[in-house]
Formats: sequence, structure tokens, C-alpha cells
Amino acid sequence: MNIKNVSVIGAGTMGNGIAHVFAQNGFSVTLIDVNATQLEKAIATIGKNLDRQVAKAVITEDQKNTTLSNIITNTSIADGVKKADLVVEAATENTSLKLDIFKQIDAAAPEGCILASNTSSISITKIAAATNRPSSVIGMHFMNPVPVMKLVEIINGYATSKQVTNTIIELSKQLGKTPCAVNDYPGFIANRILMPMINEAIYSLFEGVAGVEEIDTVMKLGMAHPMGPLQLADFIGLDVCYSILKVLHEGFGNPKYAPCPLLCNMVTAGKLGVKSGEGFYVYTAGSKEIKVSEGFL
Ligand code: NAD
Repeated sequence: MNIKNVSVIGAGTMGNGIAHVFAQNGFSVTLIDVNATQLEKAIATIGKNLDRQVAKAVITEDQKNTTLSNIITNTSIADGVKKADLVVEAATENTSLKLDIFKQIDAAAPEGCILASNTSSISITKIAAATNRPSSVIGMHFMNPVPVMKLVEIINGYATSKQVTNTIIELSKQLGKTPCAVNDYPGFIANRILMPMINEAIYSLFEGVAGVEEIDTVMKLGMAHPMGPLQLADFIGLDVCYSILKVLHEGFGNPKYAPCPLLCNMVTAGKLGVKSGEGFYVYTAGSKEIKVSEGFL
């Protein structure tokens, strides 16, 4: 299949990175979000990230400008997907929201258009069942930050066709990524393994076994992880971690996946990590320095 026009739905942490990578590789991208301010912020973020690539001589100033000119924005799903060969949905991790979005995409996207979701954990089979083209629905799970991370976890729903899987595998390679195909069970592979580790780190803090920096240092220096689990949770977004753990908990019916009460409290209090300015650490806009949140001292 020949994919040229890509619509990305959701211009948050992941959506702006996905739009960036497709645009940099020559695709025409329509970035869609219900929130116009979020679209402006996303374009500004892509610009800043491209500036960093220019400064490191990874791309030229001309390539930066071409990349930016490959992206347009839209606040309407119906309008923004009507010429798409591929739609990549990267909206908030919420099942009913995603089912509603996929019904809208299915009604407006051309026949033959592939519908992908960047969901971290929600069943691709369930999302596909909300459409009239389940064989064209697939998981295309990019990692954060998208321009840097090599992996794309490809999730085959129950009805996903082999042709669609092969197209998405080849497309991921064209983006300079390494695709890895897995089957559709709660959390797939990446989050089925990562989230219990993050939850256990939060439990260790909650139970007073160690402080934020100690937990992260043990995992960084002891296990050679580039980032500790609490800092990683802040980067992913604590609301996203909470939602994924809920999907694992409900999907497997096993109490070991229940989100730690401290994580539940932090999400309720709006402490969502980097995107809200505070999680386990405090992040000051424009500063690289981060310090442990007062809440745990
Ligand atoms: P985010 O909260 O940063 O952004 C979500 C965006 O979706 C927001 O801009 C919001 O305005 C938009 N949105 C909400 N409802 C919408 C609608 N009806 N139509 C269009 N846009 C809508 O979330 P995120 O961290 O970018 O996560 C997006 C998806 O990517 C989720 O499914 C998440 O599980 C997945 N994911 C996240 C990460 C991560 O590290 N954050 C990594 C991999 C996958």
C-alpha cells in the first residue's frame, strides 16, 4: 500500500512526536486535536525539537523548514482524516473516548485507509470492533520521546489482516524505527512488563522503604536503566500510568496490577509529572534542573 497522507489525532506528548517523525520522513501530516491551544503548543514543541536536531547537525535548516511545511493542523476529525491513507490516533488513554474517536474516523476516512492507535494498553480488538473495518485496525505503539526512541510495538488485533500488519511493519522501517509485532492482550509486551515495575517503585516509596532519589538511583546504577522508574513515570505522565494499570488490573483480574494508592492520590491531586510541572520531581519551565517534590521529603 502506498501511504503518503497521514493524519495524527491528539497533539499531546506523543502526537507531536509522531507528527514530527512522519513529517521529517516526507509524509504529508495533518495534526488534529479538539484543543486549538494544544495544536499551537505542539507545533512550537516540534519546532524546538527540530532546532535541537539542527544544533546537533542531525538535520539541516532546510530539512527543518521542509519538515514544518509538511504539517498542517485541524480541530475537526471528520475534516482532518478525509484524505488520509493512514490515521494514527494518539488521544488521551481512555477507552470510551477512543471508541468514539474511531467511530468518527471510520465514518470519515476513505476506504482502504489504515486506522492505527498509539494506545499503551487498550485492546486493539475492542477498538476495531467499534469500526466497520476491523481488518484495517492495528496498534502502532511509539515510545516516548518519539523522535529519539527506535522501537515501534506493532499490535495485531484479532481481526487485523496480514497485509495491514506488513504495511505497518514496512512503514515503521521507513521511519527509521525497529518494529516488533505482538498480539493483543492487556498492556501488550512493553507496558505489561514496565508498569508493574513502576507501580512497585511507587509502592516502595509509599511504604517508606526508600526515598525518590534512592529508588531511582538503585535502578539507574544497579540495573543500568538510563532513567529511574519514578522519573520515567513522570515523563510518561502519572495519569497515563494510572490508566494503563487499570487496564491491566481489569484485563487480567489480578490484584497485583492494582495502581498504588499513592499514584491514585497524585493523579486526583493533578500531580501528573512533567506535563503538569510536578510529579515525583518538580520541573521548572525553561530549566534543566529538577528536584524531588516536597510531598515526599
Ligand atoms: P496527552 O495527555 O499528552 O495528550 C492527549 C491529547 O489528546 C491532548 O492534546 C488532548 O487535547 C487530545 N484529545 C483528547 N480528546 C480528543 C479528541 N476527542 N479528539 C482529538 N484530540 C483529543 O497524552 P499522551 O501522553 O500523548 O498519550 C496519548 C496516547 O499515547 C495514549 O493512548 C497513551 O497511552 C499513548 N502513549 C503514551 C506514552 C507516553 O509516554 N506518554 C507512550 C506511548 C503511548
